[in-house]
Amino acid sequence: MRFEPPFCPNPTCASRAREGSFRYRRIGTYRRSTDGRKVQRFLCRTCRRSFSTQTFRLDYRFKLPHHDVLVFKALVSKVTQRQAARMLGIDRKSIQRRIRRWGPAMRALHEAALESAARRGGLNGTYCLDELETFERNRRLMPVTVPFLVDANRFFVVGVEADTLPARGNLRARDRVRKLQLEQEFGRRRNHSKRAVGTVLRAWAEAHSPELTPRLISDKKSSYGRLYLEAFGGRRREHVRVASCATRNRSNPLFPVNHTLAMARDQVSRLVRRSWGASKCRHRLRDHLWVWVAWRNYVRRLTNRTPGVTPGTAVGAARRMATISELLKWRWPKRMLPAFLVPPRHTKGGQFPGRGGGGPHSSVSPPT
Ligand SMILES: [Zn+2]
Repeated sequence: MRFEPPFCPNPTCASRAREGSFRYRRIGTYRRSTDGRKVQRFLCRTCRRSFSTQTFRLDYRFKLPHHDVLVFKALVSKVTQRQAARMLGIDRKSIQRRIRRWGPAMRALHEAALESAARRGGLNGTYCLDELETFERNRRLMPVTVPFLVDANRFFVVGVEADTLPARGNLRARDRVRKLQLEQEFGRRRNHSKRAVGTVLRAWAEAHSPELTPRLISDKKSSYGRLYLEAFGGRRREHVRVASCATRNRSNPLFPVNHTLAMARDQVSRLVRRSWGASKCRHRLRDHLWVWVAWRNYVRRLTNRTPGVTPGTAVGAARRMATISELLKWRWPKRMLPAFLVPPRHTKGGQFPGRGGGGPHSSVSPPT
């Protein structure tokens, strides 16, 4: 199948602003040095810049693209970055580069899935919220909160964030000195739990069915009620609050989110307690978590006894189970919807401006 570029990859090109004005010409091919694959080149007739099928791919300018799937598997299998680099015989920086690029791309892919779910009636059912506590660099001085919002029956992760918490109290003398040094360097460390939880709840509100009443289960933290109200703009909603001291077993209403947090702690190396794989920077932690969320929602089965069913297919955000290569295919998954996602019912009104030509059910053909 011939690859048709859906839009000009040059962000400043005038054709990006006007629907239907993207015209291009094929200008020959080249052999990719890493794997000898033939790559088609194109010339944009508007901005006269050239690009290729490779420009659209998530492995654009990666020198060792054949390692991608293995690196991805390592990132969701509790393998530390250093150990993954040793195992594959590559540089640790190659792993870091992938986390930096994949994090935002997996988040965009998940947002595209939520958008298509929203256009097909929206999410429904009960969702569980909880915050996992971890840290960057120093456990006492630089704690980080990681809110997760999870579907109570289908384990679909709607959203995740990572933001700062203030240093803990009762510090040792040495830590108090270090805390002052850090405050001079970075300013006072604030509690951004509300900001992080708000982001996650808004993503849910945007994707939730406007007709059905949302139902949230959380612990009794006082800020949740107001954040829930704000996210849904005062719409009708239900809120079940569970005492956080309740036993954390299967009959606890927060079990789905507790289970998901435990799963993340088991599979994301930097969340493993008391290990040297801990995060050095919360932004990379967020990127790594999005990689894990994409895998959990779209690749991993809902449970080991549900072949072919993922949390994404169960909530109607994906039409089938995806492979890791499919997650890692496009740089702009919102504009080039991967084939495993449910296409939106109508694409009129420029909701997917990049998808020129094809009808609502066509997906962009893979590069040859
Ligand atoms: Zn152009």
